[in-house]
Amino acid sequence: MPANVPGIHHVTCITGDVQKNVDFYVGVLGLRFIKKTVNFDVPDTYHIYFGDYVGTPGSAMTFFGWPHLPCRPAGSGQVTVVSFAVPNRSLQFWTGRLRDLNVEASRVSRFGIDTLVLKDFDSIQIELVGEASDERWQPWPDSPVDPHHQIRSFHSVTLCEESDLNTIQFLTDTMGFRKVASEDNRTRFETGAGGPSSVLDVLDAPEAPVGEEAAGTVHHVAWRATNDAHELDWREVLVKSGRNVTPVIERKYFRSIYFREPGGVLFEIATDQPGFTVDEPAEALGSSLQLPPQYEGRREDLKFNLTPIVVPTTAARGAGR
Ligand code: ZN
Repeated sequence: MPANVPGIHHVTCITGDVQKNVDFYVGVLGLRFIKKTVNFDVPDTYHIYFGDYVGTPGSAMTFFGWPHLPCRPAGSGQVTVVSFAVPNRSLQFWTGRLRDLNVEASRVSRFGIDTLVLKDFDSIQIELVGEASDERWQPWPDSPVDPHHQIRSFHSVTLCEESDLNTIQFLTDTMGFRKVASEDNRTRFETGAGGPSSVLDVLDAPEAPVGEEAAGTVHHVAWRATNDAHELDWREVLVKSGRNVTPVIERKYFRSIYFREPGGVLFEIATDQPGFTVDEPAEALGSSLQLPPQYEGRREDLKFNLTPIVVPTTAARGAGR
């Protein structure tokens, strides 16, 4: 069996309003707007990326801008919660910041770890978990949030399942995840070295409505492959286990395979290479529309259909400081 996937690579969601989404992820959560491109399969719509300074794998939250889709609550067969890691000592800061910015948040404890629960503009459930590591994080100096308190990476994703049995078996037997704890209907797993950005929770939720693709839902979660060979090894394992896996697809910033876990959640495995500086330097990330070569000839056409995005400036670091 190949080495475990080390953790989350990125999470991709659907927003109904790209501008309000940018206002929230940059202006409230303080992530950097690192890439403005189009959906490679639906090129007249945006695909936008947020992350730490360079979009280190494990920090990239991405959105398809699909304003035509209805907004629906998430349900089973989907990732229903995206959790970010912040230092535990920063939870007080975040409580104050969210209050000052009129974002409702409540405090819960999961497996003994303090967590703030809130919703983004599209009502996707977001958590700020007070358990962080600085190991692979590159702070963004111009963030509206002081580096002491900035989001470090993802902490975890939560999968909602109509029945958790097949998913748990797949995670442990095929993907090598380790069960670390359980609490009520929630089972916690880790992959790789464990800790923030390697955590996955599974909810056994037979009563939950079946999730459908809509604005305000998570489209997929991507797991890291350390290189192309690692990804190909995993592809072989997954195909042998009976998963229907795509061929490797070139995504410009990474190379990807896609498959569904037994409960229906779309998983991707994406390579750490080449990363977001492949088409613009680190200091200029997110500043201009980047297109894959197949759409470069249609640039003016595509630009005409895409509403300009205004990224909030960072003069407002005051709030909740
Ligand atoms: Zn993806």
